[in-house]
Amino acid sequence: ADGASVAALVIGTGYGGSVAALRLAQAGVDVHMVEMGMAWDTPASDGKIFCSTLEPDRRSYWLRTRTKAPLNYFLGFPIDRDIPRYTGVLDAEEFGGITVYQGRGVGGGSLVNGGMAVTPKRENFAAILPTVNADEMYNLYYPRANAGLGVSTIDPAWFDSTEWYQFSRVGRKHAQRSGFPFVFVPDVYDWDYMEQEAAGTVTKSALAGEILYGNNHGKKSLQKTYLAQARATGRVAISPLHKVTSVAPASGGRYTVVMEQLDTNGAVTATKTVTADRVFFAAGSVGTSKLLVKLKATGALPNLNGEVGRGWGDNGNVMCGRANHLWDPTGSHQSTIPCSGIDNWAAGGAFAEVAPLPTGIETFASFYLSITKNPNRAQFTWNAATGAVELNWQTAWKQPSIDMAKSIFDKINSKEGTIYRTDLFGTYKIWGDHLTYHPLGGAVLGKATDNYGRLAGHPGLYVVDGALIPGNTSVNPFVTITALAERNIEKIIATDL
Ligand code: FAD
Repeated sequence: ADGASVAALVIGTGYGGSVAALRLAQAGVDVHMVEMGMAWDTPASDGKIFCSTLEPDRRSYWLRTRTKAPLNYFLGFPIDRDIPRYTGVLDAEEFGGITVYQGRGVGGGSLVNGGMAVTPKRENFAAILPTVNADEMYNLYYPRANAGLGVSTIDPAWFDSTEWYQFSRVGRKHAQRSGFPFVFVPDVYDWDYMEQEAAGTVTKSALAGEILYGNNHGKKSLQKTYLAQARATGRVAISPLHKVTSVAPASGGRYTVVMEQLDTNGAVTATKTVTADRVFFAAGSVGTSKLLVKLKATGALPNLNGEVGRGWGDNGNVMCGRANHLWDPTGSHQSTIPCSGIDNWAAGGAFAEVAPLPTGIETFASFYLSITKNPNRAQFTWNAATGAVELNWQTAWKQPSIDMAKSIFDKINSKEGTIYRTDLFGTYKIWGDHLTYHPLGGAVLGKATDNYGRLAGHPGLYVVDGALIPGNTSVNPFVTITALAERNIEKIIATDL
């Protein structure tokens, strides 16, 4: 409520925020979480909380009047459609050179993502977080994160027999015939539930085309894991449809936090001010960076250092499809949850998920999201004239990612006698190089903050989300975001409270 006073205020309810809230509450601290998106805990008139990917309605996008599907063409035809403006679950946030997809709502990215829960290879860790003790991460914090998130791997026998993963088996065959290591990718989807979906004994979700705009069953989003545990402590309150706009020093070493209450059209219905002993920035790489860059530039947090806004990367995301021969169908039934990948990280700087194209029809396409070692880093800056934060990423900066992905797919195409699809991202366009699902950085650990996420210049302010990670995790990022948050909050609870 307006005028309230809280011990710990957490901005955002994604991975970093949920870890911080749970561990603070377990340490006896009262926590208030502020989330700009909706609660996503109540079914709509169709009985479902989330809409399906093939039939997007107002629940799909954050304040848009037309969908902006990541894969926006099929057979050369645009597939986007008009929708009513609403505080939907997926934000396609557009900057000059890149569209950044993010989850909006209680649970953050866990609501919309594929649930792929990948721990980076130990030998790659030093390049990901150079100032963090790898022994501690691999002995303690990665296992803790994997347990807290409920990570597991598909049963290989079921994988080999189910029609729903034919697309992955085709991906495996082509990878192995070209000499690439094929790996199973762990996920937070409940694999037992998925097998029951296939058997027809439970309501389908992953096998009913649900992904991107939320899964109604089966996926262990943060609402079911960290946030459920946090709520059970009785010390965590969550305010959905509240957007933090300012954090500034108050008397007694405390902070004044200003937030706007939104209605489902995105209109501001109230402005509230609270004071907090400590504030945890967990608004995601983009959300945290935008707040910090604005607050430094406008003088609200004048002591933040010049590293704020820097070191942002796209985790090297790039997508492509291959056109298979007619004797290599990928199946009209495809699970939306990827479970496998091609690891050419060592030789070509790419890790490619074998991704589904769950259109409900046979497409003869193999589809991939590659995570590559793209070296480019962008910076967020404040534009006083427009009152907006900008990001200077250039579309051409994806070229190293394309080259690394080609280290896999040129070889497969040549071995199989196949070609790239040119109809998925426009007409005659091979590479999906216009977006990222994995924004990382902007308040990098050891630069904008100390080695545990304490922001320089303002004691009591912390960053706990993907903004800490300098642009790349070599694999899908949320396990690393979670593990780093577990590490940092343990230190902060032990030394600062
Ligand atoms: P987030 O999870 O983004 O949470 C930040 C929260 O803060 C959001 O809920 C946001 O609404 C809220 N917020 C922002 N600004 C404010 C504000 N000013 N006031 C109040 N609240 C605010 N990663 C994987 O590891 N595996 C995958 O399979 C995978 N698939 C993905 C698929 C898609 C479509 C997308 C979009 C992402 C995917 N990711 C995946 C990425 C992963 O979801 C993110 O890396 C992760 O969610 C980031 O965690 P975070 O804690 O940094 O922030």
